[in-house]
Amino acid sequence: MKEQFIGGSIIMVKLNEYSREWDLISPEIQRIISSFQLEAPVKIGAVAKSLGLVVKKSTLSASVSGEIRNIDGTFVIKVNRHDTSERQRFTIAHEIGHFLLHRDLIGDGIVDDVLYRSNLSNAMETQANRIAADILMPGNLVRSCISNYAGEKKEYALEKAAQELEVSVVALKIRVGD
Ligand SMILES: [Zn+2]
Repeated sequence: MKEQFIGGSIIMVKLNEYSREWDLISPEIQRIISSFQLEAPVKIGAVAKSLGLVVKKSTLSASVSGEIRNIDGTFVIKVNRHDTSERQRFTIAHEIGHFLLHRDLIGDGIVDDVLYRSNLSNAMETQANRIAADILMPGNLVRSCISNYAGEKKEYALEKAAQELEVSVVALKIRVGD
């Protein structure tokens, strides 16, 4: 656990490098993902591709954010093209989370609604969200983005860091426990 001051001494952020779900992923896969985490934003399309996944931006029902299906042995992620790009990035990372942790349960497909609920349990959805945060917002990268605005007010620092990371401010706030 490392602590960081942002906005001068306005707030102290406690950031684990990764969630405990990260430890459920093999070291080899961890290494692959980490290789994309050296600079912001994490190129989520490239992460998916490196894991053998196909990502398609699709017109999905407005109530659906994304899905993952096994199509003839290839895992295909569809993401709602009408969502914001930050939202699409999080959805892709969330579906990668299902691929890494719940592959045996994908069956005919997992469809996530706008609240990232599916036919899987809420506990599994939480796991996928944590992996998504691990992929898009690893602690070291979050720290370095925020530290660029160390002299600024907290809200501004988080806003700018979220822009650099191409994540929503809400997602970043959850990540830093704000
Ligand atoms: Zn899900």
